[in-house]
Amino acid sequence: MRRIAVYPGSFDPLTRGHLDIIQRASRIFDHVIVGVSNNASKKHVFSVSERIEMVEEAIRGLPNVDVDTFSGLLVDYVKRKKARVLIRGLRVVSDMDYEFQLASFNRRLNKEVETVFLMPDDQHTYLASSMVREVARLGAATDQFVTPFVARRLKLKFRAK
Ligand code: ADP
Repeated sequence: MRRIAVYPGSFDPLTRGHLDIIQRASRIFDHVIVGVSNNASKKHVFSVSERIEMVEEAIRGLPNVDVDTFSGLLVDYVKRKKARVLIRGLRVVSDMDYEFQLASFNRRLNKEVETVFLMPDDQHTYLASSMVREVARLGAATDQFVTPFVARRLKLKFRAK
C-alpha cells in the first residue's frame, strides 16, 4: 500500500522552513501532497494560484511531491486523497499549543487520520511566513528566508503596493 501524506498550510508565502519539511516528508512517504488552503475567512497576501505557483516551482526536483489546493474540512480532503497522514511542522514549544489542539480536533473528526510532526533544521526554527511578509513589506531582502523565485514574487508584490 502506498503511503500518502498531506502537508496542509497557508504557504503565504512558502519559506525555506516549509521546503525543509516537504523534503523530509518526501524521504519518508511514497507520495506527498502539499495542500494549499483556500480559506475565504483568512486574509492572504498571495492568491491561491500565486501560492500554488511558488510551491510548484520549489518542488520541481521532487518527483513524489505534488501541490494542490483544498477548502472545507481538512480530514475530508485527506480522505479524498486516499491519504492517512497529515504532516505538520513544529518549530518551537509555542507551536505546540495550537498544533496539538488542531491534531486532537482532526483525530476526533476522523480517527484514521494520523498527524505526524516533523522538525526543521535549526536554521529554520525562527522562520515564519508572517515575518517574511513583514520584512518584504519594509523593503528588505528576503533571500535567506525563501527561494529566489519567492523572493522575486515578494519584491513585485510589495513594490506594486
Ligand atoms: P497554517 O496557516 O496552516 O499554520 P502555515 O503556512 O503558516 O499554515 O504553516 C503550515 C505548517 O508548516 C504548520 O505546521 C507550521 O507549523 C509549519 N511551518 C511554518 N513555518 C515553518 C518553519 N520555518 N519550519 C518548519 N515548519 C514550519
